[in-house]
Amino acid sequence: SSKNLHYKRVILKLSGESLADSGGRGISGEESGQIAQQIKSAHQSGCQIAIVIGGGNILRGGQFSGANALVQEATAHYMGMLATVINSLAMQDTLESIGLKTRVMSAVPMDKMCETFIRRRAIEHLEKGRVVILAAGIGNPFVTTDTAAAQRALELDADVVLKATRVDGVYNDDPEKNPHAVLYESLTYDEVIQKNLRVMDATAIALCNEHAKPILVFNFKKDGNIVKAINGDTVGTWIGS
Ligand code: UDP
Repeated sequence: SSKNLHYKRVILKLSGESLADSGGRGISGEESGQIAQQIKSAHQSGCQIAIVIGGGNILRGGQFSGANALVQEATAHYMGMLATVINSLAMQDTLESIGLKTRVMSAVPMDKMCETFIRRRAIEHLEKGRVVILAAGIGNPFVTTDTAAAQRALELDADVVLKATRVDGVYNDDPEKNPHAVLYESLTYDEVIQKNLRVMDATAIALCNEHAKPILVFNFKKDGNIVKAINGDTVGTWIGS
């Protein structure tokens, strides 16, 4: 029953790459299907779930503008936001195909395809048991969907930002390059900033720090970890004050 729940409401931040096959491009039915199944199991325990999806499997503004000098950086960021909408629509149908009720809410109005993000309406959807998929980040260029996850966690009063990554949490060095990198069990925001640890972008960390919104960084590739993270089981690296 819901009174035993660890969290009432969470923001799950999925990178665009999490929807792709290894290699990280495009959208894989198998990968997104597995994520959807886990979201369904976690949702059955009664937790309200809002998902922020990135767009890196299609395009990241900062990288694209660097490689394509004719496209202005702001334009490239808008392109990245559109990529998150593509992923959000894919995830919507994937979740609905296994019986979940969902709403896509875009920070940039796109009323033929999805709703526009309105805070009070998003909360209403969550309270009615719909999984809310937050598309187009915060709708402004020069940030990433990490910032959107932090921003939405604050305004939707989520208990935690669950940041899904492909490593087990936050390490003192890049674990994909350094086999001796050490995993942290927990960190304060100050430690993340002082040690210059790559957790989420700086704006996201600053927002969470200022409002004491905890972040859990965990490995979504390990079977069952999304369910564990949403249920509040011990997994990954906890960041709080
Ligand atoms: N983006 C943006 N504003 C936002 C969110 C995203 O301009 O509020 C752009 C930005 O260029 C970003 C891209 O959309 O690189 C895709 O999002 P992100 O890099 O966060 O995707 P992920 O790495 O999580 O797949």
